[in-house]
Amino acid sequence: MKFHALIRHALAGLSRFLSLKPAVASISLLLLTASGCGSAFQNINILSDADEIALGREFSRQIEREVRLYTDPEVVRYIDELGQTLVRHSTRSNITYYIKVVDTDEVNAFALPGGYLYINRGLISIAGTESELAGVIGHEIGHVAARHGAKALTRQLGLEVILGMISGRNPTGVRRVASQLAGVGGILSMLHHSRQAEREADALAVVNLREAGYDPGGVTVFFEKLLEINDREPGALASLFATHPASRERVENTRKQIAALPALEGLVTDSERFRQIKNQLPPLEDNPLKNKKNDKEEQPVREH
Ligand SMILES: [Zn+2]
Repeated sequence: MKFHALIRHALAGLSRFLSLKPAVASISLLLLTASGCGSAFQNINILSDADEIALGREFSRQIEREVRLYTDPEVVRYIDELGQTLVRHSTRSNITYYIKVVDTDEVNAFALPGGYLYINRGLISIAGTESELAGVIGHEIGHVAARHGAKALTRQLGLEVILGMISGRNPTGVRRVASQLAGVGGILSMLHHSRQAEREADALAVVNLREAGYDPGGVTVFFEKLLEINDREPGALASLFATHPASRERVENTRKQIAALPALEGLVTDSERFRQIKNQLPPLEDNPLKNKKNDKEEQPVREH
């Protein structure tokens, strides 16, 4: 909350520096008039692919100044190949996706606008099968395919700031926004998705996996795993839950969606290559799965 207040304060100042062309101002006015309320405005995305990619590239530069990328060529190649296979079967395959591995034990993954995907090493380590991992990557591709990041940014920064950033008319303004957003936490906070966006990304992931030949059940299984870890050790997945709250509802939604799809033979659940890749990753210092005492039938005690 404090962070958002800071951003709002900074942007209020920034907006005074922006000189809007009349055309831009009238577009803003038209949109506001047409929507009549904030909710319709939230789903507006007027960015072209090129604009969105330019924004994503700028954010990716900032992110990569802060995080350490995992560079084991076999792991990097594997994740890219798995991701690109999914991309080819996604609803937005006309842009280039850059899929990278972040060298951290933390279980998380995120997507920036324009096709910049980051999968943490820790998440690969806790995925039980290739289809679980594909489910997470498919979910992030879903955010890009549905332009959730671009919409979130437009909602948070305002149309005029976004247009100022894209047009390059106000490089000082861009640098100001960039400095306010500096850091992974700031950027992810700006890209916070609504529950509706999460549901949409889940649904896209299910279809994407199936189209690409992977068992879409991996999406559901991974959510169940996250819920189980969170029940057993609340806070263990704090950073993941901050941006992607797993819930029983998401498990049920994806389960129902899969059940309603016609059966398909030969879908891939796991692969030898996935197991090899997992084996060559360094062990997690505090593996959230290792504290599991019993088999998966064990019902965790919920604390309220
Ligand atoms: Zn998400």
